Amino acid sequence: MTINLLSVASEIYPLIKTGGLADVVGALPGALAGQGVAVRTLVPGYPAVIARLGKAKVVRRYDALFGAPATIVAASIDGMDLLVLDAPDFFAREGGPYGDHGGNDWPDNWKRFAALSRAGADIAEGLMKGWRPDIVHVHDWQAAMTAAYMRFGPAAHVPRIVTIHNLAFQGRFSADIFPQLGLPPEAWGVDGVEYYGGTGYLKAGLISADAITTVSPTYAQEIRSPVHGMGLDGLINGRVDKLHGILNGVDVCIWNPAADDLIPKSYGAKSIAGRAANRKALEKAFGLDHDGAPLCIIVSRLTWQKGMDLMIDAAEHLVAQGGKLAVLGSGDHALEGALLGAADRHRGRIGVRIGYDEPLSHLMQAGGDAILIPSRFEPCGLTQLYALRYGCVPVVARVGGLADTVIDANEAAVSARAATGIVFAPSDALALHGAINRLVALHGDRKAWQAMQRAGMAADFSWTNSAARYADLYRALMAGAA
Ligand code: ADP
Repeated sequence: MTINLLSVASEIYPLIKTGGLADVVGALPGALAGQGVAVRTLVPGYPAVIARLGKAKVVRRYDALFGAPATIVAASIDGMDLLVLDAPDFFAREGGPYGDHGGNDWPDNWKRFAALSRAGADIAEGLMKGWRPDIVHVHDWQAAMTAAYMRFGPAAHVPRIVTIHNLAFQGRFSADIFPQLGLPPEAWGVDGVEYYGGTGYLKAGLISADAITTVSPTYAQEIRSPVHGMGLDGLINGRVDKLHGILNGVDVCIWNPAADDLIPKSYGAKSIAGRAANRKALEKAFGLDHDGAPLCIIVSRLTWQKGMDLMIDAAEHLVAQGGKLAVLGSGDHALEGALLGAADRHRGRIGVRIGYDEPLSHLMQAGGDAILIPSRFEPCGLTQLYALRYGCVPVVARVGGLADTVIDANEAAVSARAATGIVFAPSDALALHGAINRLVALHGDRKAWQAMQRAGMAADFSWTNSAARYADLYRALMAGAA
């Protein structure tokens, strides 16, 4: 029997993306189709989504959804079955999905994402003629309130799953908004949406969910500790029987070096020499010297979480060791400035591009020798998975999904040809410097290096296994067995 699933999320690749959440929400429907799960995804009607709507069918009109006129429309875009919450007062804005160009959060985010969640719960309650979800799967704080609305409404019997893509983003607002959320009074309190005296959207979702998943087994363990639990470890430990760590996969239709239109030369594990042309194009794009020195890349949000403050010194160290660095990212303005400064000091050795550039990110994976990911925490991480597939060796901190997906090049693993990268701990400057030293030494040993590239390219991080785990979980929940 086909399972009808409603997915609710604030991003979906290729329409709107700020990070890995979009990649996962965009890839899951295709992966789950093979498991007998038909997914419809509810997303906000940002300008980039509305522009692609084409022929859309109105499913529901609201005169006032949190005070704003809104419609839910159904449309198929790029083969994805979407439900779009078209509420111009909330979503028709220049800027990012969560804030303006200056990086300031939209002050009405509480309303925007309560509206998205309310619409999700309304669909679960059966507002669409001829379609009703058997199960509802929501992602991160922006959609988490769907679970709370369902729990306190007529769709309480429909199983609901909340996935944590990053516990650092929790959707915390003041207590004053509670009366405007349209929840019954009993929803307030420690067993409801109240969170340390305020309103917590992710917290409300986690306490209301029938199952909680996060995106790697190690992160599922880490968030039970005070350091990584970020205030929610108590709740998570109390619901540990509902917690599952399911690794994200790679969308192999988009990330495949053998058939990637975004890179100058495609290649496979057997034609790895084809990477040389991409390496050259990458060096050109960043104004780097053409030489055989290890060429490291970074494709990342430039934030403390990603350990990018550690990279300021580490970039100098890499150059001193003879390496080169190409950085693509944006985020913290002080870090952006410091990296640009390093590039100025080391022309030809360090290149920095501030911004978001999907095609360039493919070229970097296809031409770089190694990707540096010194994260302090990393729920799953996708860039190391793309790197593995592209023969770009990941150098990663031993946290979260990075620890679950990269096999360190220790002596035993190198001689068994099992190593796929370099793993270091803790996430600090000293360990990162040590990892860079190892990277430079290993890069000099061409045989060992190519063996690592091949082992990485052979690793299977496609969605097949993880989609099967989600499908098993859905079935168990529907049978009341999870
Ligand atoms: P997070 O979601 O925490 O930012 P992930 O590694 O899970 O980190 O996912 C990041 C995604 O965003 C990857 O697809 C990566 O390639 C992409 N990405 C990050 N920064 C940029 C950028 N500046 N330009 C293009 N793609 C980027």
